[in-house]
Amino acid sequence: MHSPEQYSTWIEVDCTAIENNVRLLCRMTGVAVMAVVKANGYGHGAVPVVRAALQGGATWCGVARIEEAMELRSAGIDCPILILGFTPWEKVESAIANDISMAAWTADQVNFAAVKAQNLGRKARLHLKVDTGMSRLGLSPEDAVALARSMVHTPSISFEGVFTHFARADEKDQFTTQQQERCFREVLTSLSAGDMLPPWIHAANSAATISHPNTWFNMVRPGIAVYGLDPSPDCRLPSDFRSALAWKTVISQIKRLPAGRGVSYGHEYSTASEERIGTLPVGYADGYRRVAGNKVLVRGKQIPVVGRVCMDQIMVQLDSVPEAREGDEVVLIGSQGEESLTVDNLAAIWRTVNYEVICGLGARVPRVYR
Ligand SMILES: *Cc1c(COP(=O)(O)O)cnc(C)c1O
Repeated sequence: MHSPEQYSTWIEVDCTAIENNVRLLCRMTGVAVMAVVKANGYGHGAVPVVRAALQGGATWCGVARIEEAMELRSAGIDCPILILGFTPWEKVESAIANDISMAAWTADQVNFAAVKAQNLGRKARLHLKVDTGMSRLGLSPEDAVALARSMVHTPSISFEGVFTHFARADEKDQFTTQQQERCFREVLTSLSAGDMLPPWIHAANSAATISHPNTWFNMVRPGIAVYGLDPSPDCRLPSDFRSALAWKTVISQIKRLPAGRGVSYGHEYSTASEERIGTLPVGYADGYRRVAGNKVLVRGKQIPVVGRVCMDQIMVQLDSVPEAREGDEVVLIGSQGEESLTVDNLAAIWRTVNYEVICGLGARVPRVYR
């Protein structure tokens, strides 16, 4: 890891944690693992995450968009990559040319890809997306066999996989997941009857990978678990998974303010008595939310952020840490001494889920790897 001291704020990613988590997922399931690295590897940085995931035993990676797949190919990553989402017509040719697999759910998509692939003298790799209850992407189960047949009978198409996605696998109640699984299995049975089962059958996100072994088929598609975070409070990872990300900054200035002094825009906070206020070079342009109730770690203690979050800076109340000095490292996510502030703690303060916290980390925050 190169020295982070040169930065105002930075994110530390522990690649060994990612490798460890993927290895656990491989061992737990015994099937192929597609590491989902959309949204810049859930904010961790896609390329280093993929390298660590492959090291841990993943054989595929999943992205949302072709630009994300191209970033991996440009970095020399040559494992199979599936675009889980929609590929704009203009980009289909480049997906085929770069051996990037695409999700497909309409005859138009299949025909279009077939023509492009034929012109290139290659095959378009397609995974049939079936909507079994998420009501997002995919064709209805009744239409699956017909589209599969047209893929099988088109020489420039490689019918590589069939998949679906769960809406409620992270909840205690398993009813919906079981219904979706049953629906998906009916599609598989029909495909099998026509001797049209493709090589890859996949359904499980992290939550289903953890809680629903019946949904593993021959590949799982974990995202959040790769990064060592729980799919939900009702669906926790085993304790040997490790969170990979820490977010840090430093104290840029400390001042002693008299009683009654307003702090930050709008003076929403004002000092009750003489107070030590520290300034930190991190703000909402880095993905730190402009809400009340934020906390950070200084000298191993949780202390409050006071006043409004600015674009590039925040202020903190240092009275409980008299030993704090300018230049001290401050933890926004991670641990310091005995204390820790997890992604889930921050998600609770921000009234959202851990997924949104990590995906919202600003592009301008440098990522450092170890
Ligand atoms: C994002 C995504 C995943 C991974 O979901 P997690 O909940 O992060 O494990 C898997 N499959 C599809 C289709 C996705 O969009």
